[in-house]
Amino acid sequence: MEKVSKSALVIGGGIAGIQAALDLADMGIHVDMVEKKPCIGGRMAQLDKTFPTNDCSICILAPKLSECYRHPNITLYSYSEVQKVEGSAGNFSAEILKRARYIKEEECINCGLCVEKCPMRVEDEFDRELRKRRAIYMYYLQGVPAIMTIDKEKCLWFTKNACRICEKTCEREAIDFEQEDQIIRLENIGSIIIATGYNLIEDIDNEILKNYGYQKYRNVVTALEFERMLSASGPQDGHIKRFSDNEEPEKIAYLQCIGSRTDRAGQYCSAICCMYTTKEAMIAYEHNNDLESYVFYIDMRAGGKGFQSFLRRGEAEYNIKYVKSKVAQITIDDQENPIIIYEDLDKGEIKLLKVGLVVLATCIVPPEGIKNLAEILGIELNEYNFIKTQPFVPVETSRDGIFTCGCVHEPMDIPRSVAEGSGAAARAAEVIRGG
Ligand SMILES: Cc1cc2nc3c(=O)[nH]c(=O)nc-3n(C[C@H](O)[C@H](O)[C@H](O)COP(=O)(O)OP(=O)(O)OC[C@H]3O[C@@H](n4cnc5c(N)ncnc54)[C@H](O)[C@@H]3O)c2cc1C
Repeated sequence: MEKVSKSALVIGGGIAGIQAALDLADMGIHVDMVEKKPCIGGRMAQLDKTFPTNDCSICILAPKLSECYRHPNITLYSYSEVQKVEGSAGNFSAEILKRARYIKEEECINCGLCVEKCPMRVEDEFDRELRKRRAIYMYYLQGVPAIMTIDKEKCLWFTKNACRICEKTCEREAIDFEQEDQIIRLENIGSIIIATGYNLIEDIDNEILKNYGYQKYRNVVTALEFERMLSASGPQDGHIKRFSDNEEPEKIAYLQCIGSRTDRAGQYCSAICCMYTTKEAMIAYEHNNDLESYVFYIDMRAGGKGFQSFLRRGEAEYNIKYVKSKVAQITIDDQENPIIIYEDLDKGEIKLLKVGLVVLATCIVPPEGIKNLAEILGIELNEYNFIKTQPFVPVETSRDGIFTCGCVHEPMDIPRSVAEGSGAAARAAEVIRGG
């Protein structure tokens, strides 16, 4: 009988899943990658710069995105989800739902003519709703695959039976309103890697953020919103402006552990906020050398190579002051400047600080739909609904042949997500090769 070579299924196209897919593909193993959003890249694509080097995030990511898309051993199913998995280690099969984009993928060249003409403006999820996009859209500027998507929920043709302007504009006749969702069946899957990343607490519950004036005061934003504000391709073209008056803030306060390490939300540490906050304050200082930054923290967790000296550099060279404190309340003055009322834990005093902008470092939570995905895959979750892993082999789940990497099993930074991507790929390859 002919021996059929086994492939790997990677679920999630963030940096962890991309690394796992590339490693497997380079070993000569075929990979099917399933990504829920219209483009791969995950959260890293939303970041402006990345610690520990403060290099431009998309500049590091972009070559990996195109390598992943063009690799002869990788088939990418974007805008897709896994619906069913059967079988066992070494021989799984899966059913993928590939949602209709209403675009002929082979025809679209991402020229943007259709976007210019589309009359429908809707909140842009990628930019954390800080600006609008059109109903026909590219998920993000440098997204891969570089193909438009029509948002069926918002498009005038689907909602009101009107318009179809994009169809008339597209010179390549790439619009296809008749397109339908497809079910794709994959056989001979040797192993599966789950790399579906994370959500932020504000994506599921705003209550905790409201205590800090979020959505009540215009000059209180979240850290991921601030990443988009810093980004040259973001809603403020890389200029930090307050939403109340478009002025540049002279003082910024960064509040740590919003929702993390508390019984009211995530009882765990989100692991990356101390570092990315320092990075954000450094980058903001590079925009304005007169800027003063204040980091309100419970304790600083800088447990990585060079991380402690990164914080010291922040203090010495970027005008960042670390305030060991408990923040009690935020209010505003008549210019909408946030006023932070806090207990200075070093001095044991109650103090006030008036700033121009507040940035909240919010809790990392498991990704949307994780319970459903765990059920489909027959794997266990831990008490916080992250994927349960083996204590001494963090890339192994509770089920043979199914591995994991990145933030879907616990909050972690990009270097560790990449290392885990490679770790999961190595274990997945062992199963595929009959180990
Ligand atoms: C404000 C902020 C700043 C940060 N700054 C830094 C930094 O400077 N340096 C650093 O090292 N780290 C930083 N991080 C952390 C960094 O974002 C993560 O380490 C990294 O994104 C983890 O990658 P991942 O692939 O595990 O998850 P993600 O980036 O979340 O990717 C997961 C992918 O899976 C997809 N997906 C989700 N569910 C499904 C599903 N059911 N089916 C298919 N696909 C699915 C998602 O759409 C996404 O594309 C920061 C985080 C935040 C919040």
